[in-house]
Amino acid sequence: MKILVIGSGGREHALCWKLAQSKGVEVFASPGNPGIEEIATCLPSGGGSTLQPDLTVVGPEAPLVEGVVDHFREKGLRVVGPTRQAAQLEGSKTVAKHFFEQSGIPTAQFMTVDNAEDARRALDRFGFPVVFKADGLAAGKGVIIAHNRAQAEAARGALHGRLIIEEFLRGEEVSFIALCDGRDALPLAPTQDHKAVFDGDKGPNTGGMGAYCDSHILTEAQTRHILDCVILPTVERTKFTGFLYAGLMMTAEGPKVLEFNVRLGDPETQPLMHRMTSDFVPALMAAAEGKLGGAQLEWRSGPSVCVVLASAGYPGAYESGKPIRGIAAAEKRGVTVFQAGTRLGTRGLETAGGRVLGVTASGADLPAAIAAAYRGVDCVTFEGMHYRRDIGRKGLSYSKA
Ligand code: AMP
Repeated sequence: MKILVIGSGGREHALCWKLAQSKGVEVFASPGNPGIEEIATCLPSGGGSTLQPDLTVVGPEAPLVEGVVDHFREKGLRVVGPTRQAAQLEGSKTVAKHFFEQSGIPTAQFMTVDNAEDARRALDRFGFPVVFKADGLAAGKGVIIAHNRAQAEAARGALHGRLIIEEFLRGEEVSFIALCDGRDALPLAPTQDHKAVFDGDKGPNTGGMGAYCDSHILTEAQTRHILDCVILPTVERTKFTGFLYAGLMMTAEGPKVLEFNVRLGDPETQPLMHRMTSDFVPALMAAAEGKLGGAQLEWRSGPSVCVVLASAGYPGAYESGKPIRGIAAAEKRGVTVFQAGTRLGTRGLETAGGRVLGVTASGADLPAAIAAAYRGVDCVTFEGMHYRRDIGRKGLSYSKA
């Protein structure tokens, strides 16, 4: 069976790594990256459809919003992902917020803002802190939390075009991802991302500096509630296919949706794939064929942790072309190093993006998984490398429970 993965980041490396462990599967990636090249065949961008794959999984949001799923389906190809129209739930924050409102899905109160007068009214209504969101795709970086008027002014200057201003929610964030087939939804294990660049959730937001996957993040009752109140109403109303990712804030009043993504998270996919023990292919195939009912996934009992190693300056401007050392030594210590922003230069592997690597480990419990991941991190170096030292730390309070 030929399976094609579209994309080139750490999420796609983790997916290819998992799929390559399935029997009778040949994995292709378009365009892939040097890490993926070691376990799969990489094809140029856009080269995937001529392959006639038996199954395609789309990683990033941009091709989904452009309609790659519609295009593959027109050719009669099986594909896991939402249609162009359903992808608008991620492609436009205003579309998403109106959808939440109309569907009774719990979310932060908000106002759509087109000018200074609208912004003034929103600030009067919500007070500080308050959240500014750009309407379109922004790779996780289109959200600014303003704590005073000066920061609110700066946020309005930094985010162009139509904005959403919304109430600030307090609580723990959870990434809840479900594989959907237009009718049914199969939840993946819960994960927690770390969006801010520095320890203690300080500094600007990034695409994600690390994630962990642990069954303790949600109780069974919370999982059921999220399925019933957020995921299934969305699947029913939009006939959603592919991965529906609800970024949730677990507030004192219950879970509220911060955003929908219409694909797997990056870096959440890295610990998810590390922790999943079942063969992923039957569930993906069932989702693509609209026959998900009854499908199940198994997970290790212990958690998994992924620490992202980033280039100096990220999430702002950064330099590329820095030689990367120590991946093999890290893997000897039992971690899996998923590659994201890397390329092969004349001197070997070098940096080629903001988020460069995702060092991923599993353990019997959360302290063990965290320690294992950082033992791997200690082996890797490139000039200017920075990373958070507190990935998974919030979860330590649950894992003692
Ligand atoms: P989003 O892209 O909407 O998920 O926002 C990115 C990040 O900004 C989230 O993961 C939160 O950490 C933060 N955030 C977004 N909306 C809110 C909100 N209403 N209240 C508090 N934090 C928020």
